Amino acid sequence: MDIPRIFNITESAHRIHNPFTPEKFATLGAALRLQPGDRVLDLGSGSGEMLCTWARDHGVVGTGVDMSQLFSEQAKRRAEELGVADRVEFIHGDAAGYVSDEKVSVAACVGATWIGGGVAGTIELLARSLRSGGIILIGEPYWRQLPPTDEVAKLCQATALSDFLVLPELIASFGRLGYDLVEMVLANQDGWDRYEAAKWLTMRRWLEANPDDELAAEVRSRLSSEPGRHAAYTREYLGWGVFALMPRPGLQQA
Ligand code: SAH
Repeated sequence: MDIPRIFNITESAHRIHNPFTPEKFATLGAALRLQPGDRVLDLGSGSGEMLCTWARDHGVVGTGVDMSQLFSEQAKRRAEELGVADRVEFIHGDAAGYVSDEKVSVAACVGATWIGGGVAGTIELLARSLRSGGIILIGEPYWRQLPPTDEVAKLCQATALSDFLVLPELIASFGRLGYDLVEMVLANQDGWDRYEAAKWLTMRRWLEANPDDELAAEVRSRLSSEPGRHAAYTREYLGWGVFALMPRPGLQQA
């Protein structure tokens, strides 16, 4: 079981697989007022940077689930490197339908909401692991600027304009689902550059080491076109943020 190999190639050197920087994760950890011993569940935990640094900086304990074998291994190595391997556990597997045995203080899905079939389904899934008074974290893109056409949306790597909302609408949608937005930390264009531009050097070096690989032509083509596409589209049109949610009183929990 694994994610498509192209992501394991282009993001092999990333510690964070989204437009957040280490500083943004630190800001978010502080904003959530995490306490030592708080339990965190992270679906689509990637290379584990959020859980590992929060375990180091705030003493949280936690579990990450990720479908990439490479990222899961990197997460385990990162936990050892930061001296938190006794507090965090990384499971290689499909997080769809994953509910923790023990209820958690923070249930997160940061940049992988397809796991629950979209934002609403992922909130519902995370809510099943959440203790009362706990916080759900959703990392999700939004339109910084509404693309004029579906064509432009596709150039931002969306499937259509309707994939994402503008920020006020995304925030309103959380309310309609019965949740209070209690914190948020937004990425910025520098963060997008860290996520996207870091792929370019990785691709270049991978091509030098793997000229005959079956994906070499695809990686070459991406390396040639991605910088221009990123500058014209993703960087201009797409925003991204992590939204902290708490169920409003009376919301029926599954
Ligand atoms: N939250 C991480 C990773 C975000 S990228 C970070 O902030 O760095 C999206 C992640 O979702 C990737 O690591 C990918 O391997 C993982 N993923 C994709 N489909 C998945 C699934 N069905 N179950 C678990 N993880 C999945």
